[in-house]
Amino acid sequence: SPELIGNFEVLMAWADEIRKLKIRTNADTPKDTKQAIIFGAEGIGLCRTEHMFFEESRIAVVRQMILSRNVEERKDALEQLLPMQRQDFIEIFREMGSRPVTVRLLDPPLHEFLPHEEEDIVKLAKKMNISVSQLKNVVAELKEVNPMLGHRGCRLAVTYPEIYEMQVRAILEAAIILKEEENLTVIPEIMVPLVGQLTELKYIKNLMIKTANEVIQEKGVKIDYLIGTMIEVPRAAITADEIAEEAEFFSFGTNDLTQMTFGFSRDDAGRFIGEYVEKNILEKDPFQRLDRAGVGKLIKIAADLGKQTRPNIKLGICGEHGGDPSSIEFCHQLGLDYVSCSPFRVPIARLAAAQAALRLPQK
Ligand code: PEP
Ligand code: MG
Repeated sequence: SPELIGNFEVLMAWADEIRKLKIRTNADTPKDTKQAIIFGAEGIGLCRTEHMFFEESRIAVVRQMILSRNVEERKDALEQLLPMQRQDFIEIFREMGSRPVTVRLLDPPLHEFLPHEEEDIVKLAKKMNISVSQLKNVVAELKEVNPMLGHRGCRLAVTYPEIYEMQVRAILEAAIILKEEENLTVIPEIMVPLVGQLTELKYIKNLMIKTANEVIQEKGVKIDYLIGTMIEVPRAAITADEIAEEAEFFSFGTNDLTQMTFGFSRDDAGRFIGEYVEKNILEKDPFQRLDRAGVGKLIKIAADLGKQTRPNIKLGICGEHGGDPSSIEFCHQLGLDYVSCSPFRVPIARLAAAQAALRLPQK
């Protein structure tokens, strides 16, 4: 009823006055973006780009690009993808207006891009002008026993730098188009996934800057952007002082950080975690509520180390925990700048952040 909605708005306005944390959302479509804004999101903390590559009209080209051993062929495929990717970002940036948007460069487990059905393999082999058995060999070589610890995130970009080059180009071209045609200033925050070491980030950042400079020069339009990284590999957390030399922001990916800190597979652990909770070995499922003693401790270490190197480094969290009240309380205590959660969790996050601010001082 209108009365209920009115009361809800009043409550939310109180919460917004009190809370210290900003609330962003995880969104990768214009529809989710719009929804999140209605719920009060103040930015996008994580725009995953994987789904964009799985769209029906794109997946065949994406597969061809991943499976081709020929750099020129890969570049051709990416040229076909560029206008679509640019349009993705134009639409999301436009919805968000002047609010900040963090776009994460591609982070798929590689196996999700491999064709499995015989029919797809036959079609693709024909398109690529190679034999079915040749293609099957390539697919077999790319298969991994443990894809979530495998060739994904920035590791993929070390092998296929053209992918990130295409994405950085699409992001900046989108920002330039909006500036030129709609007078909208977007400062994209471009995020590198699964970084574990400074040298990885340096390598990727170099190619990002090279591409960005090319685009800016070609178009003759100056665009500001930030480069930052996910902190989701324990090694990155422990060496965050080094990583911060090259990162303007950190976003804690607590899904992977939980997986790798516990050594629990995020895809399979559900099979035994219930039993652990029943038998009091675990108090809660650590994928649902941030484990403060372990994963939380790593986040604190990383936040402190990051600030040592770069006192004004922007800090956020974008794993599922960003929508969990108890985890939000922890983020408040640590003094993070924002939490990012799914659109429908945004109102809960606004309230939880206010409750935390009422109850607890920041450290
Ligand atoms: C994470 O690992 O917490 C994260 C946000 O990234 P993804 O879930 O896409 O791996
Ligand atoms: Mg992750």
